[in-house]
Amino acid sequence: MKAISKPSSIVSMLFLFLILLSCNATSQVEIEDETPTEELEDTVEETEEETSEEPENTNYDISSILSIFDNVEAISYTVTSTSVIINTTNLPNHKSPYYEGTDWETEMYTDYSGTNSNFRLNPNRIGEQQISITIPLYPEEADNKEATPMGPMGISRNGVVFFNQYAAGFSALDNEIDSFDQYLGHPAGTGAYHYHIEPVYLTETFGEDALLGLLADGFPVYGPLENDAIISTDDLDDYHGHYGATKEFPNGIYHYHVTATAPYINGDGFYGTPGNISR
Ligand SMILES: [Zn+2]
Ligand SMILES: [Zn+2]
Repeated sequence: MKAISKPSSIVSMLFLFLILLSCNATSQVEIEDETPTEELEDTVEETEEETSEEPENTNYDISSILSIFDNVEAISYTVTSTSVIINTTNLPNHKSPYYEGTDWETEMYTDYSGTNSNFRLNPNRIGEQQISITIPLYPEEADNKEATPMGPMGISRNGVVFFNQYAAGFSALDNEIDSFDQYLGHPAGTGAYHYHIEPVYLTETFGEDALLGLLADGFPVYGPLENDAIISTDDLDDYHGHYGATKEFPNGIYHYHVTATAPYINGDGFYGTPGNISR
């Protein structure tokens, strides 16, 4: 009995196995028919997500870069649990024709040596300031974007403040540009020296792709070069920044770029929420 039943059960099992195999084969074919379309749809969705995607990492923390303000003569700063309070005398650490007739003239005055044949010294001269900017250590995108103020909107790494893209009355900078010294800054009536456009002393010192400072919302400002390519306004959003990895923030951060054309540093306002600016 055993001798007969064994082969017969083997045969029936083989038969069953074959049926299963063929069923499997049929169902596999059916699945394969559908799979490519599904995969294709998935890929398309992923690509769309990647291009219009919100930043993956929004837990921004700028405390690691505060050391750029160490040993800067114009700057002293205090760190709290949520902010860094940067105080600056705002005296540029580079020479300028605008040091003419000031307490620092002997050391810091120099003739204009820039390339603008229309350069004319404006009537203002550099004066010491007491500017204090409170900057969030953990910057976040603001729900409602605030316009940048007239006057300081951020701090560069040598202690000189950044101004926005407007002259008085929100007019274009066209006339003011002719009074920018060889380092592309100039003083306001208060004596506050400032950069509206690329601070070339800093890009010459640290590099065209370097971290140049912070706006008051805590987001960093970089030079016009990134990955060996010049950034233009077209590469940036309305606030004149974009999200991406930088040398100081390899996990990615929203950041502004200086560009050769208007609006130069910031566009339609702060991307984040600015802290207090007093002067
Ligand atoms: Zn100005
Ligand atoms: Zn960038």
